[in-house]
Amino acid sequence: MEVVEFWQLLNRRRRLARVWSLLWPLAGASCLIAYHTMTGSQISGPFMVFLLISWGSVGGLLALRVVRMRCPKCGNRAVLFIWERQSSCVACGSNAVRP
Ligand SMILES: [Zn+2]
Repeated sequence: MEVVEFWQLLNRRRRLARVWSLLWPLAGASCLIAYHTMTGSQISGPFMVFLLISWGSVGGLLALRVVRMRCPKCGNRAVLFIWERQSSCVACGSNAVRP
């Protein structure tokens, strides 16, 4: 994979993982409102916990998909967390501008 393509892909996946990890309160509130609108009753606590765990699991997989990406130049893990600001390899410093 080309270095430029790699960083574009990594940034796209990282953005998705970040957005997903921030949207859970909104998703939870939407679920509560949708359930109440459809059934007229309150959603059960355990079901909300199940939804939260499901949301977290998907978020975990999305984050894992980012941090497992290997730098095309040195073969090491390119980023360690999804919240890092830098867009260059933590091991060799390679990025889309300086491949
Ligand atoms: Zn590297």
